[in-house]
Amino acid sequence: MNLPPNVTRGEIVTSGAHYIEVVRAGQRFRIVDLEGNQAVDTLFYNADDTAEHYSAQNTIQGQRRIYLTTGSVLLSNRGRKMMRIVEDTCGRHDTLGGACSAESNTVRYSLGKRYMHSCRDSFLLALTRYPAVEHKGMTKRDLPANVNFFMNVPVSPTGQLKFDDGVSAAGRHVEMEALMNTLVLISNCPQLNNPCNAYNPTPVQVITWDPA
Ligand SMILES: [Zn+2]
Repeated sequence: MNLPPNVTRGEIVTSGAHYIEVVRAGQRFRIVDLEGNQAVDTLFYNADDTAEHYSAQNTIQGQRRIYLTTGSVLLSNRGRKMMRIVEDTCGRHDTLGGACSAESNTVRYSLGKRYMHSCRDSFLLALTRYPAVEHKGMTKRDLPANVNFFMNVPVSPTGQLKFDDGVSAAGRHVEMEALMNTLVLISNCPQLNNPCNAYNPTPVQVITWDPA
């Protein structure tokens, strides 16, 4: 894929790996689903005060819609605008499914899945390894409900949730504009037990740049 000019950071995040970065207000941030149907668990914090973070409830209420796509504005727990989705070639991203964890893997699949690596582990590893947030003392209490980019969690007319086969495809991407200095925290999901990624977690590319 052609990289935009003025790239300040770009890398491949393999499945099971984490990514953490401050995207400055006005910068663009793109996630590319390189092989298709990957789930990219993502959280957003005000980089200058991490007690302010992405709020699924405020975002859903603000846009009166469950799924995220072009035009969606991600709101914080203080009701402020964090990121705006400005481009989306997938068309739909999940706000409800949450992140996998040792506990959810055990309840959903089997006791033997408890020790499989999970998104919650990746979030916590990223927070402890990132020097700029280490001194802020962020812990598991700082993990609210997250966005799952590219993940398909349809809601039935009767209100039931289903983790379903993905609607994304190789090379599709979602692009955001930061509306505040935003700490972006990603777990590229290592899940091996559900069909959202066809039981095959794959790498994604993340790119940050200054618009011309
Ligand atoms: Zn996961």
